[in-house]
Amino acid sequence: MAPLPGSGLAKGLAVTLRTMTKRSVTAQYPDTQPDLPPRTRGVIGLFEENCTVCMLCARECPDWCIYIDSHKETIPAATPGGRERSRNVLDRFAIDFSLCMYCGICIEVCPFDALFWSPEFEYAETDIHDLTHERDKLREWMWTVPAPPALDPGAEEPKEIAAARKAAEKLAAQQQAAAAEPAAPAATEPHAREQARAAEQPTRPAGASKQQTDQPRQEGRE
Ligand code: SF4
Ligand code: SF4
Repeated sequence: MAPLPGSGLAKGLAVTLRTMTKRSVTAQYPDTQPDLPPRTRGVIGLFEENCTVCMLCARECPDWCIYIDSHKETIPAATPGGRERSRNVLDRFAIDFSLCMYCGICIEVCPFDALFWSPEFEYAETDIHDLTHERDKLREWMWTVPAPPALDPGAEEPKEIAAARKAAEKLAAQQQAAAAEPAAPAATEPHAREQARAAEQPTRPAGASKQQTDQPRQEGRE
């Protein structure tokens, strides 16, 4: 049986009327920002203080889109007669987001928590070459990474946080001790100045060099 003339139009209008009464599911981006889940895989942020240039992320990336350059630096011995040490210094860390497939392998394999997902997603470019982002940009994105969820009540403090807290407490105690010391007397009292200098000696515990306090995570990785 042939359809009645105008029945198609009536059906179409019925669909339009039904849809008009429903709540819209689209958002007028960029006027309205999307409400993204906090762990959205937007872009990768780099916390370069934690990076030891182990190259694991670059080796495991299936797209070979992580570029890392570094050089070696010699650290003088912390104590007289001690051994010199060497460490890797990061010169370049870049990710080509035109190749990245957002698999997250680099973030998973990083043994030192230097890479994180950021929910930032507004980095479109008109030239594909501009999608290779260098360490400064990756560092900027690091500050958009949401804080980790709170630990369960009674959970053990993570080792990294415990180590960082102890290092910060030790540094604060040293600074307090230094601030509590009396100021050096005027130049007209040489013997008193000698006494003040002698009193300054024990403020730095044996073996605690500046290197050890400034770079607690670098230690022990080499
Ligand atoms: S997310 Fe995957 S493809 Fe992208 S840089 Fe990391 S390992 Fe490579
Ligand atoms: S795996 Fe982590 S520590 Fe190693 S080079 Fe990559 S970002 Fe740096």
